[in-house]
Amino acid sequence: MARPYNFCAGPATLPEPVLAQAAAEMLDWHGQGLSVMEMSHRSEAFGQIHHAALARLRELLAVPAHFRILFMQGGGLGHNAIVPLNIGRGGPIDAVVSGAWSAKSLAEARRYGDAQPAADTGPDYTRLPDVASWRLRSDAAYVHVCGNETIHGVEMATLPALERPLVVDASSHILSRPVDWSRVGLVFAGAQKNVGIAGLTLVFVREDLLGHALPICPSAFNYTLVAQADSLFNTPPAYAIYVAGLVFDWLAARGGVAAMDAAAARKSQALYAAIDASGGYYANRVDPAARSRMNVPFFIHDERLTAPFLAGAKDAGLLQLKGHASVGGLRASLYNALPEPAVAALIDYLHHFQRRHG
Ligand SMILES: *Cc1c(COP(=O)(O)O)cnc(C)c1O
Repeated sequence: MARPYNFCAGPATLPEPVLAQAAAEMLDWHGQGLSVMEMSHRSEAFGQIHHAALARLRELLAVPAHFRILFMQGGGLGHNAIVPLNIGRGGPIDAVVSGAWSAKSLAEARRYGDAQPAADTGPDYTRLPDVASWRLRSDAAYVHVCGNETIHGVEMATLPALERPLVVDASSHILSRPVDWSRVGLVFAGAQKNVGIAGLTLVFVREDLLGHALPICPSAFNYTLVAQADSLFNTPPAYAIYVAGLVFDWLAARGGVAAMDAAAARKSQALYAAIDASGGYYANRVDPAARSRMNVPFFIHDERLTAPFLAGAKDAGLLQLKGHASVGGLRASLYNALPEPAVAALIDYLHHFQRRHG
């Protein structure tokens, strides 16, 4: 029987072949007689898994040699504190607040330095502030942006070229488009949206930013120490690294980031077009120039129809379309692993529901 389609914002859908391979290798990884969950992170077998994943990721995103890639724990929210502890130098820190996640990043950075909003589009968060209007300080240690606001469905399609180092929270759009490495100092991403399973956070850090952690920074979260230890300062999220490696291989075999970029454009354009063509029955309230290709929040004109919509969707094999509690309504997440037929099925269901309840 075919599995239903999963539109969850995170932890999110995984490629079915990756799940099948992980299942097949669960009891015995490559004749080692044990599961990846049971291996020493310092064993030769895990070293292979780790370095293959690292090499594949560097190749997929064309990461230049002067960036270190770290496999860490902590999650997106953990790194909201870990970043200022490592590269904030006590401030000033500028943050562009474009949704719930960047608001949290700013609040956390304030604990470790003079962090200020360079712009703030709240409380609605339905657009991106014009770069020319950002209030940037020339002595800022860095400028924080959230590349894709998972909750509000706002995506920064291009990163600005700034004087100060740019830090990008790419948790929900990493590997859906190329990264312009000339414009960033540090990129971090929790794995459970577009990379794999929870527990792993990817950190890409430009080498010249290392070496300035505040004394209060925990050693296990000190990017310099973790980089020196090749991400083995303490036990890394070993199984999550293994799953990410399987996803990287799956992605490479399907045409890499360029193919994912094109698919993201097709999937999101089709869904937004269906919503916009519904005559106001469904609505997405985000400025079209800032609409996310990964997370599409939308509403039915009559809020009372949201519950029957979700129940019918579940029966139709379309899971986890409920909007985030702070926004309400519905949300469809269209990550790399969500197949294109899933979007076609969702659009069919939108039409079907409107005909029945319109
Ligand atoms: C999910 C998410 C986070 C938080 O990730 P955790 O791993 O739950 O800490 C941070 N930023 C963005 C953009 C996210 O989508």
